[in-house]
Amino acid sequence: MGLRNRWVIGNWKMNGSLAGNAALLGAVAAAPSSVGKLGVCVPFPFLGQAQSALAGGAAVWGGQDVSEHASGAYTGQVSAAMLVEFGASLVLVGHSERRQYNAETSDLVARKASAALNAGVTPVICVGETLAEREDGHAEAVVGQQLSACREVLLRAQGAAILAYEPVWAIGTGKTATPAEAQAMHAFIRATLRVLGAEAEATSILYGGSVKAGNARELFSQADIDGGLIGGASLVAADFLAIAAAL
Ligand code: PEP
Repeated sequence: MGLRNRWVIGNWKMNGSLAGNAALLGAVAAAPSSVGKLGVCVPFPFLGQAQSALAGGAAVWGGQDVSEHASGAYTGQVSAAMLVEFGASLVLVGHSERRQYNAETSDLVARKASAALNAGVTPVICVGETLAEREDGHAEAVVGQQLSACREVLLRAQGAAILAYEPVWAIGTGKTATPAEAQAMHAFIRATLRVLGAEAEATSILYGGSVKAGNARELFSQADIDGGLIGGASLVAADFLAIAAAL
């Protein structure tokens, strides 16, 4: 076991129902203990259900977004302290779907990560370039800027924040970065953490983007890939657990 935790984290996005989630959460709760850690990030209304199903087991749960504010007149937002009340230990911040559909900037993402950290919730900070940015040769510059915006929180986290590299062109498209492409960006991310003065060796960097049971093992075997953030495949218990088994 190296310095870093190895994770498989599911992002349910805006999917699920109380009735439908029960079997999935039951399967996650019953997952055999693997070398890594298992987590699910569920829609806010299902946090209580996740807590009831998973409490006392090895798997952890969390939200998919968090407010930068602690409390107040912010209609529709959910604070990190509220997540904690439901036993959440993880929260996604800066997922590309929020950057795209909710116009979240890297500075806002940093403030959200900071709010999570302040409440004792591990932020899973998502970064990644669009296809156009990659094709223009700007992938590293874009990811580097997203990381730099989070410098302060990454320093404060001392390795406790998780990063997820999710090339936007690979999310939900069935198009996965090759293990070599993903490893190259993960190595760049780790090198950038060093330059920023953050705990590069202790920070888990997950890959996300159309990970499936069939490609997980090769991706996860790359030197700088410490597991995966899983969207679509996290909704099917057998697929999600097969991916976790590839850690
Ligand atoms: C995600 O939503 O974070 C993701 C990686 O989705 P998918 O696995 O469906 O590409």
